[in-house]
Amino acid sequence: MTPLDKLRAHSQEFRKEIIELAPNVWGAVGYAASNVYMIKGDQGLIIVDTTETTKAAENIFSEFRRITDLPVRHIFYTHSHRDHISGASVFAEGNDVEIIARSNFSSDLVDTGKRNVMPGKALLMRTKRQFGMGLSFPEERANIGVGPGDRPMEGMGQGYMEPTLRISEDRTRIERAGVTLELAAAPGETADHMIIWYADHKLLFSGDNYYKSFPNLYAIRGTRYRDFVDWADSLQIMQSFEAEILAPGHTRPVVGKDKIAEVLTDYREAINFVIEKTNEGINQGLTPDELVAYVQLPDRLAAKPHLQEFYGTVPWAVRAFFEGNLGWFDGNPTNLFPTKPAEKARRLAELAGGQEAVRLQAEKALAAEDFQWALELCDILLDLDKGEPAYRQLKSAALVKIADQQINATARNYYLLYARELLED
Ligand SMILES: [Zn+2]
Repeated sequence: MTPLDKLRAHSQEFRKEIIELAPNVWGAVGYAASNVYMIKGDQGLIIVDTTETTKAAENIFSEFRRITDLPVRHIFYTHSHRDHISGASVFAEGNDVEIIARSNFSSDLVDTGKRNVMPGKALLMRTKRQFGMGLSFPEERANIGVGPGDRPMEGMGQGYMEPTLRISEDRTRIERAGVTLELAAAPGETADHMIIWYADHKLLFSGDNYYKSFPNLYAIRGTRYRDFVDWADSLQIMQSFEAEILAPGHTRPVVGKDKIAEVLTDYREAINFVIEKTNEGINQGLTPDELVAYVQLPDRLAAKPHLQEFYGTVPWAVRAFFEGNLGWFDGNPTNLFPTKPAEKARRLAELAGGQEAVRLQAEKALAAEDFQWALELCDILLDLDKGEPAYRQLKSAALVKIADQQINATARNYYLLYARELLED
């Protein structure tokens, strides 16, 4: 199986389905980047998470409406990522609906009045690349790692509603629509993560602290440090419930007490392994580039289907852990004040026998399917002349080729969209 075949096979996780998880509990998988869950209570419905667009929320709600016409009374946000909070108004239908989230819930969809220094334009560009927005489906974009390759885009970010109840206790029990739920703080992909335990059915709504892929401890669209230790510790809290049904924010539900114990234990061990092994390497003076080679998951974990690198990857986690704990400086004094890229490229080209010699080597690398090296040589050329169409075409061609070697959906999407941009600008 080629890497692309593996990534395409992973799309099975996102086949569209309304799944009955337990009596009066359903999940919608494959309709949006994220899953939506519905609990039917005495006089009304409870919704857990709401997708990234009003269109996807409408599609899901019309499926749910085949099951029941009770009004939605309560909506839970497991966390603040946009793909979980942007379809709330669809489910609310204009009614006075309670929206429940953690007390530290904070979304970038809300103007907090604080000075916003986030580089919005760059983040948007990088987000588009990560999700392959504008790529063809299914030829170019296979899927997005934790969601389907084809999903509605209309109404993105537009159905968000503010939480009306913010939960500050680490752990608390609430009753809504005749259903008793336990809420627990569980920081992971975000600090404001909340997991929801439905004891009657031994069912755990786990948000994005688990999905069937190596965890996205760093998102290449650009993100602040995600606390590795908190995430690993939250997995222990999740395990303590001894759930028999695990309803994650992405990918299909996991059923069976032993299976759930296995996936959560493996997830926690994988994160803890990255923490410990990266620290071990850092203490030996290794730089991030060296650490990536040094930190390899043990075979036992690397072989697990739920730790394949469709979304997060070990190398990116290693770099994020280094950066999150030590900052940008790799420890090598050469890199405190390095030579400017254009000057470095000029000197390297001189060493290689001139710019044309570098170009020939880049073409040779491309022909020899040594794509990463071709890209690195292209970068020397582009540092010398960013606008030269021949160099841009060469890099674009190498990106298209290397994309097919990736099982990681976000890397593939990023390579392919960037390849297109190089030809367009
Ligand atoms: Zn998500």
